[in-house]
Amino acid sequence: MIRARRALLPGGTGPASVRVSQGKIAGIGPYDAAAGGADEVVLAGDEVLLPGLVDTHVHVNEPGRTDWEGFATATRAAAAGGITTIIDMPLNSIPPTTDGAALRLKRESAAGQIHVDVGFWGGAVPGSAGRMQELHEAGAFGFKVFLADSGVPEFPPVDRAGLAAVMAEAAALGSLVIVHAEDAAALQPSPAGRSYGPFLRSRPAMAEVTAIRTVIDVAERTGARAHVLHLSAADAAGLIAGSRVTAETCPHYLALAAEEISDGATQFKCCPPIRERANRERLWQALADGIIGCVVSDHSPCPPGLKQLDTGDFGAAWGGISSVQLALPVVWTQARQRGLALDDVARWMASGPAGLAGLAGKGRIAPGADADLVAFAPEDSFVVEPERLYHRHRLTPYAGRRLHGVVRRTWLRGAPVPGPRPAGRLLTRGTAP
Ligand SMILES: [Zn+2]
Repeated sequence: MIRARRALLPGGTGPASVRVSQGKIAGIGPYDAAAGGADEVVLAGDEVLLPGLVDTHVHVNEPGRTDWEGFATATRAAAAGGITTIIDMPLNSIPPTTDGAALRLKRESAAGQIHVDVGFWGGAVPGSAGRMQELHEAGAFGFKVFLADSGVPEFPPVDRAGLAAVMAEAAALGSLVIVHAEDAAALQPSPAGRSYGPFLRSRPAMAEVTAIRTVIDVAERTGARAHVLHLSAADAAGLIAGSRVTAETCPHYLALAAEEISDGATQFKCCPPIRERANRERLWQALADGIIGCVVSDHSPCPPGLKQLDTGDFGAAWGGISSVQLALPVVWTQARQRGLALDDVARWMASGPAGLAGLAGKGRIAPGADADLVAFAPEDSFVVEPERLYHRHRLTPYAGRRLHGVVRRTWLRGAPVPGPRPAGRLLTRGTAP
């Protein structure tokens, strides 16, 4: 039994005791309800009990690019950051998760070394349409497509006709298509040099707006469920509002700004890019308005050498930001400054992503759900020291920043994580709560 002066329940925040039995939430009662012989955990006065977060956008890279990031390190970092479920992206592992055999290989690679629950997105590339059923039936949570170069040759983008074919098949399967929405024709190759401005201008907001217009149009024609990944351009919010597509954004778009990126600081390079401060404030407005429903990490690591920090060349550096361990305090620090509540953060980072992936037993503190819980101290703060990160590589744009919100403890199905033995399970689409 876990007692908290503030527990974040679906009906609001207040004092509660949460009874855990066999890994599930068995009941929620008053703060001082009788324990009935159960072990008791009493949260400190400054701690809030949150549902374990669900991060539906994580690149683990194992197998194939395990030297970039692997299941053991990524899931240990997630647990330390209050994230109890991740859904792995179908690239940049080798092979990419574009068929049933690759998904089986992913599951075999993850088994026995995960500290949180892990599910898998499938990928759709040119030629996938017509053979997506296999991945769907193997338990993939949906299909990722790119509308522009993905950065790795084994995961090519689809054109508009290819997107329509993938969406039509996903609609027939009752699956979901998740889209890296930048329009290839509106992008320039990354310009060489140490200055951030030319890189930013090579990937203008209009590239996202154009691609999202295509996604909405094709989703309407095919009847598919579609989701826009890592929205950076606030200009697209008006298009998404009232459309049938959903959208997510990421901590770095909400916390960082182009004006603050120094020359050669390629740890800030990602695609789509971090834009100007004014754009960032409009992303916060789109979140507050409910147009963006999820905030997920897009944890996308690489070995530090690929970031080309010795030359600081934004053209040559790999694009991607690692943040699975820091996502919650990064977002909370910003939300708090804007007068937003922890309930909002939990909606964007727990129940919202759980809903996107169809994980009925995750992302909320409610009877019958998995006892995935976090003791979070929202007013406590810390300075990001890279050596305290469990990511395989510790390069981070947040180094030296003071963040509010300390994850004191995380439980997965009632057991503390990360623990001595990996306690995570492999999830498949439709996993019962
Ligand atoms: Zn990504």
